[in-house]
Amino acid sequence: MTRANSHSTAPRSVGEHRAVIADLMPARRVGILPLRDCVGLVLADDVSADVDLPPFDNSAMDGYAVRAEDVAGAGEQPVVLPVTADIPAGRTDVPALQPGTAHRIMTGAPMPSGADTVVKVEDTDAGTENVTIHAAPPVGTSVRRAGEDIRKDALALTAGTRLGPAQLALAAAIGRGELPVWLPPKVLVVATGSELVVPPAPLQHGQIYESNSVYLATALESLGCQVDVLRAVADDVDTFLQALRSRAADVDLVVTSGGVSAGAYEVVKDALTARGVEFTKVAMQPGGPQGCGRIDATPIVTLPGNPVSVAVSFEVFLRPALLGLLGHQQTERQRVRARLLEPLTAPAGKRQFRRGYHEWDEGSVTGTVGPRGGPGSHLLAAFSQANCLIDIPEDTTELAEGDLVDVLLLT
Ligand code: AMP
Ligand code: MG
Repeated sequence: MTRANSHSTAPRSVGEHRAVIADLMPARRVGILPLRDCVGLVLADDVSADVDLPPFDNSAMDGYAVRAEDVAGAGEQPVVLPVTADIPAGRTDVPALQPGTAHRIMTGAPMPSGADTVVKVEDTDAGTENVTIHAAPPVGTSVRRAGEDIRKDALALTAGTRLGPAQLALAAAIGRGELPVWLPPKVLVVATGSELVVPPAPLQHGQIYESNSVYLATALESLGCQVDVLRAVADDVDTFLQALRSRAADVDLVVTSGGVSAGAYEVVKDALTARGVEFTKVAMQPGGPQGCGRIDATPIVTLPGNPVSVAVSFEVFLRPALLGLLGHQQTERQRVRARLLEPLTAPAGKRQFRRGYHEWDEGSVTGTVGPRGGPGSHLLAAFSQANCLIDIPEDTTELAEGDLVDVLLLT
């Protein structure tokens, strides 16, 4: 295995840098948010039902509330009953049902006391004065019982649950307007580079369209983070510092891209080295040059500039740390073993994350993976067709077709 030469400090392992980034994250905070702001976030406390669900016995069908014994013969000989009340959904003053009568009732309307069964309208002549009934449903048919979904005071949602539409609908159904969640951090994304142009402005020769902030902002937002973006900040230390200073105090975390490698005009490195941010090499490809620290009190993670380096760095370092901060129990991507469809080479001494396309094999627990694009960290189009990262250990330099490799599923 090749290591960095003795003149430079040994690179950090991926695992070491992951731990540093995780430690840097701001403290977890609980807040109470309206239901619609909770989607994708994690519940911070157990929630019990404030009411029975359903809150009262009600009809599961449009039809007639009756006593089952009054319609017991209707299978052979139609039974005619007088209709003595009309109960639409929402009626709150429902009169009791007298024996030998029927109440017309709609789905979701409260069952009258004295009734034990609903005959659905399709089994009747739909009469409003008198109703002719052709079926003899057993006791309890088409009645939804109070509390049969969940009982008052029972545990409805457990702390640690990721709140999707179904969980939020349940919260509303048991009477909640807001929930305690692990609050999403506010993140400032800063894309540096004097060559960057914000689309769709025209490009001059030597310029490229800025894409890293789009990757980072949307990746962060998909975790639930609130994101602010400074796009295309010039490679000028004063400009960069001024932009950063004016915004960093308002956020919980800053993420930059570009300007951290070994060349000249490395704006992030030049601006922040003297301010206590640590720049290191991580033994990985892509995404070797990394940095992190604090600007004033705000944590800052400085990613390299190449688009695929940004994506891999986000996946490997930021995503698990942020998911932890957001209260998720599962912070890692699903890792599977897959059969490689093509031979691959990898650099010694670096953990390589190649982009790939994984497919499950029918009847196999592994599946296959084919690389998408070469190792170049600028190959964004190939990355856009990938659905996984192939995780190649530091000491592996060659892989043959058919070898089993570790794959991190991105979907
Ligand atoms: P740097 O780390 O600043 O030297 O950038 C490395 C490479 O990534 C260069 O080819 C940059 O042009 C490119 N790059 C840097 N930032 C961005 C960005 N925000 N969007 C697209 N490409 C970028
Ligand atoms: Mg740059």
